[in-house]
Amino acid sequence: MLHIDLGAVRENYRRLKERLGATRCAGVVKADAYGLGAVQVAKALAREGCDTFFVAHAGEGLALRAVLGREPAIYVLNGTAPGAEAEAAAAGLTTVANSLEQLAAWRAAARKLDRKLPAALQVDSGMSRLGMMPSEVETLAADAGLLDGLDVKLVMSHLACADEPEHPANALQKKNFDRLRAMLPAAPVSLANSSGIFLGTDYHYDLARPGAALYGINPTPGHANPMREVVRLEAKVIQIRTLEGDIGVGYGHTYRTAGPLRAATISLGYADGWHRRAAAGAYFNGVRLPFIGRVSMDSIIIDISALPEEALKAGDLVELIGSHQAVDDVAGHAGTIGYEVLTGLGHRFHRIYEGG
Ligand SMILES: *Cc1c(COP(=O)(O)O)cnc(C)c1O
Repeated sequence: MLHIDLGAVRENYRRLKERLGATRCAGVVKADAYGLGAVQVAKALAREGCDTFFVAHAGEGLALRAVLGREPAIYVLNGTAPGAEAEAAAAGLTTVANSLEQLAAWRAAARKLDRKLPAALQVDSGMSRLGMMPSEVETLAADAGLLDGLDVKLVMSHLACADEPEHPANALQKKNFDRLRAMLPAAPVSLANSSGIFLGTDYHYDLARPGAALYGINPTPGHANPMREVVRLEAKVIQIRTLEGDIGVGYGHTYRTAGPLRAATISLGYADGWHRRAAAGAYFNGVRLPFIGRVSMDSIIIDISALPEEALKAGDLVELIGSHQAVDDVAGHAGTIGYEVLTGLGHRFHRIYEGG
């Protein structure tokens, strides 16, 4: 059972807005709002006054437009794929032009439709992932015709190391960004993702683009999490057994009992997006119940010897993510980041939305 606390998402949005002062705050809801449900999350954010959303693909933008109505701005971070321009334009999506090539395709769509289309210009300030290279920005600056038919709504870039405040790349990227954007038409400016917001007001500009922090991932690794947890993941106990000493447990018998123990099998596995290597624990009434043996596709075996006998029964729920074990803790067990844990959580869970 996957509980998604939309009240906490809203609270996180308010906390970020407070920190941002006069800077506007968008909501990044790409990849189905990091797996939590873009429709539910975007609606909850809209209720907090959020009127700007970012997705990765035009298809995600089309789905969002259908539920948000005409008003909110929806930016497509990866740019509109060739062939999808007419549909994206009809839905009022704002394409993020990451290259002169993407810009030309959007310009051609505007010419064909004989009306102005909204666009964001992304420049590469030093992440080397997406955005126009400095030489492309120079070409653009020298030829105003390259923006014919386009309404430039935003000039943006993305930070590579914002979660490491001491990293010299942050100041360097900001410097590059300021130099590149000065060559482009005046438009609102955006640089910060979640962690970027915590680098200080110098990084805020006109619009911030948080995703992770809205969903309870700590934007300040190594420091206390300033955000509220959003996700609680529970799994049902399927079966309970008592094992004698020296018994093999699970695939490959990677675990052998040292003495008698009580074990429970829970209904959650790697097919649900729980990393096979995340040998964490489950929690019941605040007691940690360690995993034993390998994580299976649909089940995990846990040692429940720490609980009083009869305390846990088939059908009871144990907690995998929640107050005792945050998303970022689970990520640590799996050797990954909270982003991957959230986006990986499968679609087999019964989802419960609270506080929308
Ligand atoms: C994903 C993404 C964001 C949001 O990043 P978080 O670290 O989740 O806040 C912002 N901007 C761009 C360009 C992105 O790709």
